[in-house]
This record gives sequence, C-alpha cells and structure tokens, in this order.
Amino acid sequence: MSSEQDKKQKTHQKKMEALKESIDASVAAADIDRGVGILLTGNGKGKSSSAFGMVMRSLGYDYKVGVVQFIKGQQLSGEEIYVREKCPSVTFHQMNTGFTWDTQDRSSDIAAAKTSWAIAEEMLQDESYHLVVLDELTYMISFDYLDETNIIKALNNRPGNQSVVVTGRGGGSALKAWADTVSEIKDVKHAYNEGVMARKGIDL
Ligand code: ATP
Ligand code: MG
Repeated sequence: MSSEQDKKQKTHQKKMEALKESIDASVAAADIDRGVGILLTGNGKGKSSSAFGMVMRSLGYDYKVGVVQFIKGQQLSGEEIYVREKCPSVTFHQMNTGFTWDTQDRSSDIAAAKTSWAIAEEMLQDESYHLVVLDELTYMISFDYLDETNIIKALNNRPGNQSVVVTGRGGGSALKAWADTVSEIKDVKHAYNEGVMARKGIDL
C-alpha cells in the first residue's frame, strides 16, 4: 500500500469508527418496543411499493398481515396477483364493489368505501395482525367518503404491537400528527412523463 493509500485508509477508518459510535449510541437509545404508524405520501412514485416491501418483510418473519386497498384501478397489479395467489395467509381486500372512476357514482363509491373501512377497522382491533396496510386511504378522506376523526380514532386505538402503513397523495395534518414516521415522496421526475408505458412489476 502506498503512503497516500495508507493515509486514505486511516482517514476512512476514523470516519467509520465515529459513524459506528454514533449509530450504536442511537440504537442503544431506542428502547421502546411497540408498533408504529407510518404515512407514505407525496406525489412521487414509491408509496404503495414501499408498503408492499414491508408486507414482504413481515411475511419473512411469518407475521400476520392485512391489506386493504382503497382504490381499485382498472389495471390488475403484480402485488394483487402475488398476494392473492402466493400468500394465502395475508388478508387482502380491495375496494372494488360498485367503485368505478368511469361512472363516478358518488353514493356507490361511498358505500364501497364504508364496506372496506369496516374490514380495515376489524384488522385495527385484532392484535394478531403485526402489520396492516391501508393503501390509498388518504383519498377516502380528501373525497370526504370516510370520516377523518373516526379513522384517526381507530388508528390510535389499535393494539400496541400493531404497525399500520397508510399510503396515498395528500395525506393531511391529522394523519401526519398520528403517524410516528412520515415520508413525503417528492416527484422529481417520472418516466411516464416521457411517454414510457407503465411496466409490469415496476408500476403495476
Ligand atoms: P407505486 O405503486 O409505484 O409505489 P405510488 O403508490 O407512489 O406508486 P400512486 O399515486 O399510488 O403512486 O400511483 C400508482 C401508479 O402511478 C404507479 O404505476 C406509479 O408508477 C404511477 N406514478 C406514481 N407517481 C407518478 C408520477 N409522479 N407521475 C406519473 N406516474 C406516477
Ligand atoms: Mg399507490
């Protein structure tokens, strides 16, 4: 090793030691063992896919998982196929009954939202669920399909060991105040705006 390389190695080692010390200190300081509330919002890509990343992580430990998707797109998604076909242990519900962007029938949308929320509420009262994902829930609040106060109450009253991930654009101040972790994903750019089609396994 040249003396220049040796110097770089020593500097690097010092930096890494300091970093390790600070990480070890914060790991030691985090001694509260409980479920967490997570809000993934913002206009950038990565909210639902991150939530399904946590589904996969939880399943790795054989934890019980529940998923309620509050918007059914016209398009089938890879996560829906995978969870329905390969993860029989996951309770999966999609708000599809009578819900369509085409007819824009507000009353049937509200009815479907309420049915889906009732299923979500059951999960939020069941301590056997380690993780509950409420995908695209934010829209139910912004469209005024579901009562925000009621939602926050159910989220706050969930079992202590249960974690909940809420996704969707426009997550407002009440959800932000409820959540322990809030990530607002910024849309820097998206391939779709360059005319690239949505890709299976990537976007759907
Ligand atoms: P993903 O499911 O890929 O994690 P998301 O949940 O963050 O995306 P949504 O608003 O739910 O985003 O939109 C879902 C679909 O829209 C995905 O196919 C995603 O790639 C696409 N999408 C997300 N953000 C953008 C964007 N800024 N511009 C165009 N398309 C987007
Ligand atoms: Mg999404």
